[in-house]
Amino acid sequence: MTCLDMEGVIAPEIWIAFAEETGIPEFKLTTRDEPDYNKLMRYRIDLLRSHGLGLPKIQETISRINPLPGAKEFLDELRSFAQVCIVSDTFYEFAMPIMAQLGYPTLLCNKLVVGPDGMITDYRMRVEQSKLSTVKAFQQMGFKTIAAGDSFNDLGMIKAGSAGFLFRTTDAIKAANPEIPALETYDELLSGIKAAMGL
Ligand SMILES: [Mg+2]
Repeated sequence: MTCLDMEGVIAPEIWIAFAEETGIPEFKLTTRDEPDYNKLMRYRIDLLRSHGLGLPKIQETISRINPLPGAKEFLDELRSFAQVCIVSDTFYEFAMPIMAQLGYPTLLCNKLVVGPDGMITDYRMRVEQSKLSTVKAFQQMGFKTIAAGDSFNDLGMIKAGSAGFLFRTTDAIKAANPEIPALETYDELLSGIKAAMGL
């Protein structure tokens, strides 16, 4: 079971792309600026409301955000020889327009709470430490896991599997984790996954 991070690996950072698409720079704040995810999400929900951006408008904007170049071909090739799921801390309501462009690969993420007026009022995270918890659950089902991601919150699932890769990560994360192969292209990642599977 290959578990892939979404943002930075197959899609751009949604909130940064959303900030550019809407021209509202305050949406660029990410976990790199605000490490408290709950505080960050409250800020985003308040900001969406102050701009009158309900879910339909957000989804329409996100539908103009494209997957990273080559991501669809990469996923199609990968799914021809491995089971694949995308494990993300984002929300289905945001990610589905991008998933549609990728032929709807399996995505394990979270749900928003949306009021009758279309405004986002809250959100529900599926499980604590979702990436590591997901990989552990697959292992309990008898799967060997391989994971790839670009950020701090991917290190748990990367280290817990029988193989793991950093993908287009930062120099700081590479330096702190020299034992994890750090790859830059989809071809390298396909080769790495194949080698880990003994193919
Ligand atoms: Mg990422």
